[in-house]
Amino acid sequence: MTKKIGAGRRVLVTGGAGFLGSHLCEALLDDGCDVLCADNFYTGRKENIVRLFADPHFELLRHDVTFPLYVEVDEIYNLACPAAPTHYQYDPVQTTKTSVHGAINMLGLAKRCRAKILQASTSEVYGDPTVHPQREDYWGNVNPIGVRSCYDEGKRCAETLFFDYHRQHRLRIKVARIFNTYGPRMQENDGRVVSNFIVQCLRNEPVTVFGRGQQTRSFCYVSDIVHGLMKLMASDDTITGPVNLGNPGEVTIAELARMIVELTGSESPLEYRALPRDDPGRRKPDIGLAQAQLGWWPTVDLTAGLRDTIAYFRNSLDLTAVRTRAR
Ligand code: NAD
Ligand code: UDP
Ligand code: UDP
Repeated sequence: MTKKIGAGRRVLVTGGAGFLGSHLCEALLDDGCDVLCADNFYTGRKENIVRLFADPHFELLRHDVTFPLYVEVDEIYNLACPAAPTHYQYDPVQTTKTSVHGAINMLGLAKRCRAKILQASTSEVYGDPTVHPQREDYWGNVNPIGVRSCYDEGKRCAETLFFDYHRQHRLRIKVARIFNTYGPRMQENDGRVVSNFIVQCLRNEPVTVFGRGQQTRSFCYVSDIVHGLMKLMASDDTITGPVNLGNPGEVTIAELARMIVELTGSESPLEYRALPRDDPGRRKPDIGLAQAQLGWWPTVDLTAGLRDTIAYFRNSLDLTAVRTRAR
């Protein structure tokens, strides 16, 4: 048997039962790592990781990262944090605590274990950007007191803590600024645009476009992001980031709605609703740094990725319907 590159590495994934985290746990196991998933199930689900329970190299710990954690690991991927606006705005104080106290605890753990630590930061640190596309040297345009601030400012403070632990304690850090990601295991009711539009189309309900749908986003398929995170973790210690990970293909929300209507073969009409407060107008990553430093770029185009995601939701909505009928 060929020895896998990751053999023997003990890796902690916080938020490992979530959408991105569960795909990352799988990829790390495939790479030969011992994976410890720590999650408080705030937005994560056991269903996301249930197929990993049989693997002796996988362990699940119910744990809230706002509390200290004493384990022995070599690498930490810090993903714990609700990511969908409806979820992170539900209990905004807890969202800030998760980002800030969570970062302090995981950095303290990394310091004690001399582990390498990666932070799942976000394009939200750029706020409603005045520079387009967004490069890592842009400092952003964030409202510090708005409804999105618990998430944006929490993530910005976490980045600060990462760089201060790096400067002050010589910690090996990696900061990834992840742009909008989609794929199987998004939740049907998380309010994010891709999941909302697909579920609405599959149910032939109106597709809720906020504002005039002229705001843009750049959507990256989940396997590409997971690959990018692992490449960043494996990179030379001199590479700290922040580094953008995302797909530069930019679409308006109205275009996305029309694509999903077509790909699902739905009869759903578009229905225009009020634009949420502080909703960023344009978003597109400049991924030049990731290309140059990591040799990474996304490979799954939007149509292919949406097809897979639609297939996932068709299946999971069918199952939900079966379960509801059985009750
Ligand atoms: P998600 O909500 O599916 O996953 C977050 C996970 O963190 C969940 O399993 C949740 O239960 C867990 N969690 C939340 N608070 C916790 C706490 N206090 N202690 C322990 N676990 C906790 O979201 P996701 O889309 O998988 O996002 C994962 C990470 O990636 C987040 O940090 C998010 O900010 C970042 N990110 C995601 C995107 C995206 O488009 N999905 C974009 C940018 C950044
Ligand atoms: N911490 C942790 N696990 C560890 C080591 C530390 O959760 O293995 C937490 C601990 O709660 C501490 C925080 O990380 O408050 C920051 O640790 P650090 O050593 O940087 O600071 P200090 O302990 O001096 O506050
Ligand atoms: N959006 C929309 N209809 C929906 C959900 C979201 O038009 O049902 C819009 C939202 O206003 C935003 C974009 O789609 O402009 C992306 O929203 P999402 O919540 O997925 O991510 P984020 O705003 O954090 O990028």
